[in-house]
This record gives sequence, structure tokens and C-alpha cells, in this order.
Amino acid sequence: MFFPIDKIRSEFPILHQQIYNRPLVYFDNAASTQKPVQVIDAIRHYYEHDNCNIHRGVHYLSMKATEAYEEARKEIREFINARSTHEIIFTKGATESLNLVASSFGKRYIKPGDEVISTIMEHHSSFVPWQQMCLEHGAGFRVAGINERGELDLDELYGMINEKTRLIVLTHVSNVLGTINPVKEIIAVAHRNNIPVLIDGAQGVSHLQVDMQDLDCDFYCFSGHKMYAPMGIGVLYGKEKYLEELPPYQLGGEMIKEVYVDHTTFNELPFKFEAGTPNVEGVAGLRAAVHYLKELGMENIAMYEENLLKYASGKLANLDGMKIYGTAVHKTSLISFLIGDIHPYDVGTIIDKMGIAVRTGHHCAMPLMNYLKIPGTVRASFAFYNTLQEIDLLVSAIVKAKKMLE
Ligand code: PMP
Repeated sequence: MFFPIDKIRSEFPILHQQIYNRPLVYFDNAASTQKPVQVIDAIRHYYEHDNCNIHRGVHYLSMKATEAYEEARKEIREFINARSTHEIIFTKGATESLNLVASSFGKRYIKPGDEVISTIMEHHSSFVPWQQMCLEHGAGFRVAGINERGELDLDELYGMINEKTRLIVLTHVSNVLGTINPVKEIIAVAHRNNIPVLIDGAQGVSHLQVDMQDLDCDFYCFSGHKMYAPMGIGVLYGKEKYLEELPPYQLGGEMIKEVYVDHTTFNELPFKFEAGTPNVEGVAGLRAAVHYLKELGMENIAMYEENLLKYASGKLANLDGMKIYGTAVHKTSLISFLIGDIHPYDVGTIIDKMGIAVRTGHHCAMPLMNYLKIPGTVRASFAFYNTLQEIDLLVSAIVKAKKMLE
């Protein structure tokens, strides 16, 4: 397969810098990805040509900005194959999307004694809103575990389903283990029991082709900044039948139809969930990022990244004292590891001075860290602009760090 890696790298200006007199090697892509010039240019273009508050303006700029914003919504709909643009809500990111559903779904559907099922591998952004929502409404919060490879224990998950279950919430891909969960199968099982499913796609959309109609999920959310778009923009997908029934999350301009002294009627979808002036600049950047990903092709991206993962896994697994957390059969391009009893921060700090950016710590997944009985890991996460040569640099930096620390 031909993958135009030189051209791709030339489109990411931030990668071409020296830090501590060494070329920057950026392996913190699961935290946030870098932005191609196409995305940076789209934001610049928006401010140089289109900037204006959107919706209901009768003047040229307002109509132009509105049109661009709504065109972007159509393209996001197409990118994830949702049925309708009514199902695409722009938010600040995955965290806001998750809080929105937890708050509104909780108010509308959750009663004392009900149950929500989730998993031990959730990011705090998903774990905490559901946990707190359940506490608030007197509902039970049940959490399925994983096997030794870091794959979800499906028997345990399915065994938790009963007549009290109101929602199943899980991540598409674990940000710590890289595990790709069999969400389509889980959704089918849940639906046979009339239970809706929310998928946290924060780590999914940048690696996998996602298709809302094929998955048949009820809610799916993601953040722009993890898919080569700006920070502060994200998406909540929800099936229209649920979004129609859920109460609004935030109140204010945009989300109303009519306001009287004693009552207010709410706007139609998707505007009911987009209170206030939205992040129009972010949407312009997200649209450009989606164009970029479509042009590269999600299948090509997945193939290239799989090669990076295989190469890195093989090299790292051979190092003395290396323990890799997350060896699922289906996983995305990230590797979490510990070496002997060396603290992850020490490894991260030393290899940073060699120009290599990895993430260390609990990765906002403390329930998982407690389950694994570890304080944290070192996490190297790869994107399609990374190379095998960079992985070689990572491996030799780890060998050096290990020598220094032992
Ligand atoms: N879920 C997962 C699986 C994540 O990895 C992250 C970000 N690390 C989030 C949710 C939250 O995303 P954001 O901070 O962009 O809202």
C-alpha cells in the first residue's frame, strides 16, 4: 500500500521543530492530535472572510457564516452516516456531549432503583457523569470488568442486563489499553432487551470508519481535537427519537422558539441543544479536518497505523522488564506500558529530554488503574503522521532511560 507519508508530514507544521536540540517526536496523539495546514487555513479563512454570529442575521456575512456552519453539519452527518442533520449537535467536545446526555437522560428517564451499566475502562469524562447521575437519581451504577488482554468481559456485561437496566454506556476504544470494543454486537444485545446504548467515540473516530446507521447506536460522541480539528469543538450524535424527548441541557439564546414572561417553548433539533453563540471557528476547522480524513481514507489510515502498532509492539515487547497493558486482538495504535518497577513519570521525563512526547499517569482512568493495581502507565499513541524511524527513536530512548534509572 502506498501511503504519502512525506507529503502528510509536510502538512503538519508543528512536527518540524527541534526541542532540546532534537527533532520532536510526538507520540501523545490519544491526548490530542496535531493540525494540518488545511485546518489552520480554514480557521484563518473563516476570520478573514466569514466571521459573524450565525442564524437569523439578515445581512450578507451572517448568512454566509450560517451557511458554512450548516454545510459543515451536513458533512459531519455524512462522515458518520447519521440519518439526519437533526441528529448532529455541536458541543465543546466529548466531555460536554457526555454531560449533556447524562443530565438530560437522567432527568427524563432515570428513577430510583433503575440501573446504568458501564465498564471499568471508561475515561473519567464518561465514568463520572454517569456515576453522579445515578447517585443523584438513586439508581445503581454497574461496571463490567476486563480479561488479561484488556478486552471487555462480555459475559459479565451481558449478565448485568436485567429489567432495571435503562442505559448501557461504553467507550468505543479504550484510551489506556487501545482495545476496540465490539460495540455493534453489544448494541444488538442491548436492543434485544430494549435498552439504548451510548458510545464514547473520543478515541474511535480518528482511527475507525464509524457508521451510525450500521452500528445502530442511540448516542455517540467525539471531540474535534483528537481528530486533527481544533480544540473546543465536538459532536453529540443522538437518534432523533431520543433527542426529541430529552429536555434541553443549557438554556439561553438559539435554543428557544418563543419566550414569554411565564413560559418558553424550545427550538427544533438540533438547535434545542445548542444554546448561545456556538464555536463557528471550531466548526470550520472540524469541517476541514473531516475533508482531510476523507481524502486520506479511513481504511488507509487504519492500515498504516496498524503497521506502526505491530512494529512498535514487537520492538517494545522484546525489552527486558517490559509489561504492555492492553494486548487485545482488536486494538488501535497505542501502547501503554511499564518497565520493571520504574515509575512512569521518570520514564516520561527522561525521554522528553530526548525529544519524545509520551503521556504518563492514570490517563483519566483511575478506576481502571485501581483494577490493574498500578499507579499509571507510560502511553505512546501513534497517528498517521508518525513513522517507523520515530518508533526506533522511542525504543532507543527507553533503553537509555532504563539504564539511567535502574
Ligand atoms: N473519552 C475518552 C475515551 C477520551 O480519551 C477522552 C479524552 N482523553 C474523553 C472522553 C474526553 O475528551 P475531551 O477532553 O476532548 O472532552
